[in-house]
Amino acid sequence: METILSINNLDKRYGKVHAVKNISFEIKKGNVYGILGPNGSGKSTTLGIILNVVNKTSGSYSWFGGTTDTHEALKKVGAIIERPNFYPYMTAYQNLKLVCDIKGIKYTKIDEKLELVGLLDRKDSKFRTYSLGMKQRLAIASALLNDPEILILDEPTNGLDPQGIRQIRDIIKQIALLGTTILLASHLLDEVEKVCSHAVVLRKGEILYTGSVNGMTANEGFFELQADDNIALKAALAQHPSIEKIEENEDKLLVYLNNPLEGGTLNRYLFEKGICVNHMLLRKNSLEEQFIQLTAKKSSN
Ligand code: ADP
Ligand code: MG
Repeated sequence: METILSINNLDKRYGKVHAVKNISFEIKKGNVYGILGPNGSGKSTTLGIILNVVNKTSGSYSWFGGTTDTHEALKKVGAIIERPNFYPYMTAYQNLKLVCDIKGIKYTKIDEKLELVGLLDRKDSKFRTYSLGMKQRLAIASALLNDPEILILDEPTNGLDPQGIRQIRDIIKQIALLGTTILLASHLLDEVEKVCSHAVVLRKGEILYTGSVNGMTANEGFFELQADDNIALKAALAQHPSIEKIEENEDKLLVYLNNPLEGGTLNRYLFEKGICVNHMLLRKNSLEEQFIQLTAKKSSN
């Protein structure tokens, strides 16, 4: 699969603040990537560096396999990293015409992109009459005018109402379906879970996870178990090869797996050891629980 962007040991300090710590990851064509992390984790800094508006401290990144310099490469990138900013007294169409003039793009693209973001019927309304969601959608249309290889969005749904959030997410999915690679930053787990195929989880400038969103959710899960004699239960479980670790939670044991294990198989195994369970439940972690676990693990180091 074609590499759109590769980031190698990128590091950024703002004076004493170590905002990005030696991060590396790759963006492949056709995927939707989410940089996920709480506020202050270095998402915007990372996007700023690859878009050449923030200076890196060390490390490197290369666009499109390093065949073009950053300036040329960025002509194939559409990005929205600030609040949408257009001329308030001009219409949406007039604003996009200006963008076309600056970038040397045919005006025929304007209607195509306005249609994609659902603003064609409002193209003659002045920008100042737009809701925040419409402004954000216009910014997306503007960023797409030159048919970029990749669209970059920083917190695309911040400040929007639920309907506005949904519209933006649907548009992002639509753009991805049309074949454009997407990289978005978000502090919202459910946003990344709903919109993205791949995630880079950041905390305090460090990468905690990179990989598919499915890979994050599809761990083997854990059993909740309880028996009359939880001590004997725990001793029997500790000998099972598919069991990674056991935690106690009030009167139940939480049993984490390192390999898939059927409830029936586990039940038979325990019965053969003379243990009857009163309670057995297989649970899968949601991405949210895993995200909290990932971030908790690192902070306890
Ligand atoms: P995020 O986008 O994930 O919220 P940022 O990249 O904006 O995170 O910020 C990462 C860290 O760098 C934070 O501690 C933030 O305060 C700091 N930071 C960001 N921009 C600047 C700046 N221009 N000067 C000093 N510190 C900054
Ligand atoms: Mg940010």
